[in-house]
Amino acid sequence: MGIEIRKVTVLGTGVLGSQIAFQTAFRGFDVTGYDIDDAALTAARGRFDKLAATYREQVPGAGEAEATAAGIALSSDLGAAVSEADLVIEAVPEVLSLKQEIYEKLGKLAPERTIFATNSSTLLPSAIKDFTGRPDRFLALHFANQVWHFNTAEIMGTDDTDPAVYQAVVGFASAIGMVPIELHKEKAGYVLNSLLVPLLNAAMNLAEGGYAEPEAVDKTWRIGTGAPAGPFQILDIIGLTTPYNILMSGDATRQRIAQWLKDNYIDKGKLGIATGEGFYKYTA
Ligand code: NAD
Repeated sequence: MGIEIRKVTVLGTGVLGSQIAFQTAFRGFDVTGYDIDDAALTAARGRFDKLAATYREQVPGAGEAEATAAGIALSSDLGAAVSEADLVIEAVPEVLSLKQEIYEKLGKLAPERTIFATNSSTLLPSAIKDFTGRPDRFLALHFANQVWHFNTAEIMGTDDTDPAVYQAVVGFASAIGMVPIELHKEKAGYVLNSLLVPLLNAAMNLAEGGYAEPEAVDKTWRIGTGAPAGPFQILDIIGLTTPYNILMSGDATRQRIAQWLKDNYIDKGKLGIATGEGFYKYTA
């Protein structure tokens, strides 16, 4: 018999976890959100309410978005939260030891059939698989921020992932309105960031080095490739803090670019669209 996914539990209801839970519930699945304590769960309710408003504004046919938000169950009891789950999607903070710890608990509490998927952006599933107690039913399912809009779901298993489990998760991704992107083997950065990070770095290198203004770089990219947005427009959407932190952990050249970002933008409060100005100015 094929693998059926109906009940989904999302671990961690922060930025991405709340979006994944909301989108999954919006597409008619039975969803439970798990987080560490009541304060985190109260914050989750607030995130769901905000998402409901966003969906009504931005997603066609989202008139029932408030009902979606209300229909998501929340729990701070891990055992209860996963007791009937067909699929657990983990979106806890990006700290390897924390993820390993939670998978050790989860492996003991979840039914044997339950599939585990990590939304980790930078950790490879093979670094986690031994802690799950079920490496054949574990893989990465990676969403992008603003799942209703940037709807890729990158799916990446390890050598141990059962192909039937992999295909079930591909099917699930489609069922919740994502475009599944299948990776055949593990790759840090998946497909999207393997392409995007070098592009953004090259763009910042051009501007920091005084070769060309951000506007000229973006114009070149748009006209030369037909893309709707250039790298600096994309950076403004992402916000400059995350790229800054990533660059700071790199080599001397990367750190010089980070310093340039800090001096010219971050220290001036120009963090991107969220603050009304980054490389470009935005009006509300
Ligand atoms: P976040 O900090 O917004 O949310 C993390 C949530 O996990 C919080 O609600 C926190 O209370 C909860 N948490 C902490 N410890 C926990 C535990 N032991 N058990 C269960 N929940 C716990 O983080 P985020 O930005 O949503 O990122 C979560 C994951 O998603 C990371 O692996 C990250 O790489 C990935 N991701 C993030 C983005 C993004 O743009 N933010 C995009 C794609 C993937």
